[in-house]
Amino acid sequence: MLLDNKQVAIIGGGPGGLILARLLQQKGANVKVYERDTDQYVRQQGATLDLHHETGLRALREGGLIEAFRENYRPGAERVTITDNNAVVHYTEFENNPLTDLDDAHARPEIDRGPLRDLLIASLQDGTMVWDSKFAALNKNGSGWNILFDNGTSAYADLVIAADGANSKARKYITDIERIYSGFTIIEGNIYNAEKNAPHLWKLTNGGKVYAHWNGKAIVLSAKGEGSLSFYTITREADNWVTDSGIDFTNKESVFTWFKQRFSDWGTAWYEIFVTDDSYFVARPQYYFPQDQTWESLTNLTVLGDAAHQTPPSGDGVNQAMLDAVLLCEALCNSNFNTVQEAIAFYEKEMLSRASAITDEAMEQVENMLSENNIKFMLDFFALNSHG
Ligand SMILES: Cc1cc2nc3c(=O)[nH]c(=O)nc-3n(C[C@H](O)[C@H](O)[C@H](O)COP(=O)(O)OP(=O)(O)OC[C@H]3O[C@@H](n4cnc5c(N)ncnc54)[C@H](O)[C@@H]3O)c2cc1C
Repeated sequence: MLLDNKQVAIIGGGPGGLILARLLQQKGANVKVYERDTDQYVRQQGATLDLHHETGLRALREGGLIEAFRENYRPGAERVTITDNNAVVHYTEFENNPLTDLDDAHARPEIDRGPLRDLLIASLQDGTMVWDSKFAALNKNGSGWNILFDNGTSAYADLVIAADGANSKARKYITDIERIYSGFTIIEGNIYNAEKNAPHLWKLTNGGKVYAHWNGKAIVLSAKGEGSLSFYTITREADNWVTDSGIDFTNKESVFTWFKQRFSDWGTAWYEIFVTDDSYFVARPQYYFPQDQTWESLTNLTVLGDAAHQTPPSGDGVNQAMLDAVLLCEALCNSNFNTVQEAIAFYEKEMLSRASAITDEAMEQVENMLSENNIKFMLDFFALNSHG
């Protein structure tokens, strides 16, 4: 195998990096994952994730992890309720039975980010995870790399995979192609102990997801298994709005002042997001890469997931990151190529072409989701695509 006697370093222990580590270790490769989080027990940010048959679930099947997934996913959490600006329900899937057949091609089972991370880490060999290792730089060392971390440590690898997500610092050693602001910004957050801290919204979510769409704006809520309510607003905002607006996103009152003005045509039901102090807010401007991005493949460095092809959320990002891992592992381990560079080139060609198509789809979807009559778009979309 091309990776015999080689050290592989994956920068970033998100879903893409972790499943790649698992798949490569199944083939006998020497792999370390360098993650900036201080340890495994850092509270995982972000909404729940729905995994898809041909992508995220395929990766878990190939990693022998479907049973671990079955023990940790949340049957019923995939059920969606669509409301308007006043939290009036226009559509709900709560009369549907929870999905239990993970082999169903239409299955979209939901799992929280924490349990997904935990089950992937549990599948790795002891000592694979190197925590508290914030990537800083790469220096050439022979045919490989010295990897430098913010904490002053370093490590050698023959092959490095940049899996460090949307704000990747490792991607620039492959290409200087810059990301483009999409025009959309998310304010994401989490309400802990939501049954107590946001009882009405918790009830509306009912263990699933709420998509509230009205007049060019949206709020998405998802219930998480540990009892918190993840939420995000998505609106059209100018480039650099996050820094130029003067809003202090660490200050609840500052965000609430913005919300009341920006969502002034929405009802007060949503104000419950701002009641408790047991919550946080993060501003995430949404970017994408040019659909025609391409580069010359390197001998010892490649990229996957959001670091390669982030888009505004369209429910597919984690799935595409995990599919990248499957296809990269296959190229590196299937003996079809004479060199690592040939294997990387084969993987990157397919990945970039797929990324171009998913970027188009994601941008079209988010344009529709924030169109003037976006509630109609959502209702028509679910009428067409619901398999409950
Ligand atoms: C609000 C929101 C909702 C979303 N909803 C969905 C959804 O429903 N379905 C879906 O499929 N996708 C969704 N996405 C997109 C999805 O989260 C990403 O596409 C997915 O997480 C990408 O996986 P990844 O492994 O490439 O990167 P990430 O999950 O971002 O993981 C990157 C990892 O690298 C680490 N890291 C970062 N920088 C460094 C560094 N310098 N050194 C070391 N480690 C580093 C991070 O801590 C992290 O662990 C959503 C995104 C957002 C913002």
